[in-house]
Amino acid sequence: MLQHLPCRDRVPIDAPLKLHPLPDSTQWSGAIAYLDRDGVLNIGSENYINSPSEVTLLPNAAKSVARLRRFGLRIAVVTNQSPIGRGLWNSENLALIHDQIQKLLLIEDKDAILDLILHSPYTPSQNAWARKPNPGMLEAARQLINHAESTKEWSELSMRFAGEWGERPSESDSVMVGDRISDMTAANAFGVRSLLCPAELGLSAVINDIVPTDIQ
Ligand SMILES: [Mg+2]
Repeated sequence: MLQHLPCRDRVPIDAPLKLHPLPDSTQWSGAIAYLDRDGVLNIGSENYINSPSEVTLLPNAAKSVARLRRFGLRIAVVTNQSPIGRGLWNSENLALIHDQIQKLLLIEDKDAILDLILHSPYTPSQNAWARKPNPGMLEAARQLINHAESTKEWSELSMRFAGEWGERPSESDSVMVGDRISDMTAANAFGVRSLLCPAELGLSAVINDIVPTDIQ
């Protein structure tokens, strides 16, 4: 097991994950859209997003998330959140920020559900496998979503990371979207196609490279 695990809001990393159905009885394709948060879903800031009131969605972020799910992808947000490790604020504050992002997304599009949000609370100096540019959050997201989609008992989940995790599922139809090189590096290390979006436009700038235009 890793020393510095990826984290989920309010529950342990390996707590049961309940997935909402995809829109219109769409079947899961097996693919996951791994999404960075700031500069992809919401406007980022050099001084971090520090409270729910600082959240502003990027244009068409909600519609883009919804289109990914209508196309049969699950959504996994993977976000570095070093303010926690720096002691600026705590994980409950981050959970409230994520509540606000989800709320705003759903106001714009009822299908814009974030299936899973993972964060890395560690500082760069901790060199955590769970912090991008390392791929630990993507590894965790894949295992959690696969397990949630399976008929296995939740207690059978045994998460593995890095070299301890063999027989990985195909990521050939999956994608990672981010606005930074560290997102692309994490995607490459994990082995998933990566798309770099401009931070001022976010996900909607690349959505047509993922979802066919007949799925709106
Ligand atoms: Mg970003």
